[in-house]
Amino acid sequence: MIETSLVASGSEVLIGLAVAVPLLIIGGGVAFAVRLRGRGGKSPVPPGEVASDAATDVELARSAEAAEAAAPVDERAPTPIQAAPEPGPAAEPATYRGRLGKARGLLSGYLGAIRSKGRIDTATWDELEEALIRADVGVGATDSVLADLKTRVKGGEIDGADALVEALKADLVALLSTADATLALPGPGSGSVVDPVVDPPPSGPGAADAGAASPVDVWLFVGVNGVGKTTTVGKVANRLAASGVKVLLAAGDTFRAAAGEQLSQWASRADADIVRGAEGGDPSSVVFDAVQRAEAKGHAVVLADTAGRLHNKVNLIEELKKIRRVAGRPPGRVVEVLLVLDATTGQNGLAQAKVFLEAVDVTGVVLTKLDGTAKGGIVVAIQRELGLPVKLVGLGEGVDDLVDFDPAAFVDALF
Ligand code: GDP
Repeated sequence: MIETSLVASGSEVLIGLAVAVPLLIIGGGVAFAVRLRGRGGKSPVPPGEVASDAATDVELARSAEAAEAAAPVDERAPTPIQAAPEPGPAAEPATYRGRLGKARGLLSGYLGAIRSKGRIDTATWDELEEALIRADVGVGATDSVLADLKTRVKGGEIDGADALVEALKADLVALLSTADATLALPGPGSGSVVDPVVDPPPSGPGAADAGAASPVDVWLFVGVNGVGKTTTVGKVANRLAASGVKVLLAAGDTFRAAAGEQLSQWASRADADIVRGAEGGDPSSVVFDAVQRAEAKGHAVVLADTAGRLHNKVNLIEELKKIRRVAGRPPGRVVEVLLVLDATTGQNGLAQAKVFLEAVDVTGVVLTKLDGTAKGGIVVAIQRELGLPVKLVGLGEGVDDLVDFDPAAFVDALF
């Protein structure tokens, strides 16, 4: 997470390595221990974020407290602006199988024990329940999956532990496949929209004229501070730019000092344009300017970062509503409102989500940091309890560590 730049001669490199390797081993052990300790709570406060105790909203404050409690002391102090991490040339492509080691570690222990017993008895159901609850699938989803499996075992459709695990896998895939996770991606050519989800094209008299002007797709990213919004905006920008879409970033998180700078770094990496406002400035103006600029310069998509924490919950909700209204003014057209949730917060993330759902019509969830948690089951809880599709998943800090949600690959990797 910390970008380090080293310039040294050959001998300095050798000496440096002799000192650095043992330090890295010790440091790695400490980092692992810190992660283990933080398993039950929120991920550490991101470096570069200035701690603020201004938020009074209960849910938001709770998650922030959990984050601060989990953070090592030196990470709580304001730190220099966080650089967008550079994936090394040897970085493996992010795959569910490769990155869900923690989640798989938890489940495989239980499932291995269940399989090895062969027969299904009372203890099997207890173990299965414990596994699903610990993986943060949620009580509701766990109960419904177990009820289905019990009925099928009683009816003789499922015979033996292996068949039970396979049936559980199929149930989870089915549960996760119900929501439409399609992203409103622009079609080939600037400004053309294939699936305007939130602001449909105008109809009635004058519609042809209105449709003739190239609309600018706006994607809003909302969520609590530290969940990975800015990083996700950067990753999406990179992905769209790589597929030939002209992207403009709007640094709508004017509340957090470092967010604009962090986004600038992502913009330059993706070769995307960026509109920034003054710190503490009006985020709606930033988004408005971004849409105007996008239209003038022929950018098809505006990706707008937003603040996750204001002085109180009412301010936050009002601010988001205003941003949403302004972003939807022609030529702007809001096609995605993505709620970014941090998988490591588990069920707490669901409580946070409700605040944002009060403010804006969310079109989908981006679930970040799935690589850093055993609580992979939170995907099930999100879709079931919020009724929202998980559209994208963050599997690491690198630019390519963002994948489309794929229920079958996800469940396969968990098992
Ligand atoms: P924001 O406050 O919501 O904009 O959050 P940031 O984008 O600043 O991200 C907070 C921290 O989470 C940073 O250290 C990111 O590198 C890290 N992060 C974001 N997404 C992921 C992910 O998918 N996996 C991991 N391991 N870290 C992530």
